[in-house]
Amino acid sequence: MKFIETLKLKSRLFILFILIALGLVSVGVIGSLYVKSMKKNIDAVYFGALIPVSELNDILHTYNATLAKTIYKSQRLELSLSETSSEIENALFSIQTKWKSYRSHFKRDDEKEYVDYTSLEIQKTNLYFKRILHYALAGQDLSKLSVNTLEGKLFHITAVLEKLTHYEMNVAKYERKAFLQEYDAAVSTLGYVLSFIIILLLSISYYVFASIQYDHVRLEIATKKLKKANKKLERASYIDSLTNLYNRRYFNHIYEKTLKQARRDKSYITFMMLDIDFFKQYNDTYGHVAGDETLKQVSEVLQNSVRRPSDYVFRLGGEEFGVLLAKTDETNSARLAREICDNVRAQKIEHKNSKVHQYVTISIGVVCCIADEALNDELLISRADEMLYHSKDTGRDRYTITTSFSSTPAAEVA
Ligand code: GH3
Ligand code: MG
Ligand code: MG
Repeated sequence: MKFIETLKLKSRLFILFILIALGLVSVGVIGSLYVKSMKKNIDAVYFGALIPVSELNDILHTYNATLAKTIYKSQRLELSLSETSSEIENALFSIQTKWKSYRSHFKRDDEKEYVDYTSLEIQKTNLYFKRILHYALAGQDLSKLSVNTLEGKLFHITAVLEKLTHYEMNVAKYERKAFLQEYDAAVSTLGYVLSFIIILLLSISYYVFASIQYDHVRLEIATKKLKKANKKLERASYIDSLTNLYNRRYFNHIYEKTLKQARRDKSYITFMMLDIDFFKQYNDTYGHVAGDETLKQVSEVLQNSVRRPSDYVFRLGGEEFGVLLAKTDETNSARLAREICDNVRAQKIEHKNSKVHQYVTISIGVVCCIADEALNDELLISRADEMLYHSKDTGRDRYTITTSFSSTPAAEVA
């Protein structure tokens, strides 16, 4: 059965189909064999018993009804001699034909002797009637014929034939009983054979189906795993593994989309560029591992500072971050930038070598404007970058905001 598991689904279904076809063919063949044997037996019962009995009855009837009546009628002059001779001739011919046919059927050994005896008795009786025929043909009067002799002959041949009929009836009963027994045995054997074939087919089909089902379940599990792995992979492609923020690749995608939408709606768009102050010194002082932890902590602060689903926070690289807001005016943008500065400082992450504060701080450059055709993606970024450098140049731990993407003075807030 291991062999089935190694086959492809198509081959398994093909095997199943072949098995069902073979099962049906064998059921058909076995059924037709049984029907054939039944037919043979019915034939044997019919021709072996019924036909002989009816032939013997016909012979008896011809003797007792046809021949006897013809002679009685002739004696009463109800029939002419020519009619009488023709009736006798026909009756004798019919008896001979029937007897010949009766003898042609299969006879058992124990029956043959009595059949030969009956044959002799029929010949003798027929000889008697042939003599009468002879008289009739010769135009002799049949009224002088001895009724006693006639009845004696008829009585004798009737007794002989009835004995044979009785024997044939017994044989018929015996054959019928044997046939019924054979029929019952055949029906139960057929039942066993069919049940065996059906059970065998069902078991094999069950096994094939179970193996298909097993494969199906395995496939489903594998598909689920694959989907999960794909999701992970997809997530990994746009999530930064250290900070769990969106990465630069996702930024490129979202930034373009948001900008287009804002241009279409002629609505506010805000982009912030963020950079941790003196982070090189931080790493130098506390080590790279502590630096990574701080990056994570600052990222969490950024993530928690934005509230709407349409606000995005990205790690653009190193210790630089981006925040993208849609439909937020300059007051709210400035408030968020201030909150971020305050929240980062409020983490109280020690930074003893910072020239600006005892704790880790962040500088932000903010561009907030209503998007129009003149605004392109590079302009927005470069303006945010300019604002960031303005914050750095003017003391760090602050944000600088501009509402124009041309080089105009910016509002700088410490
Ligand atoms: P400034 O205030 O002018 O921004 O000073 P800075 O020292 O932060 O300036 P700079 O951009 O030159 O230094 C960035 C440093 O950030 C350099 C590098 O050691 C550190 N850095 C960048 N990426 C990572 C990181 O993934 N993990 C850690 N621990 N440090 C990083
Ligand atoms: Mg930097
Ligand atoms: Mg820095």
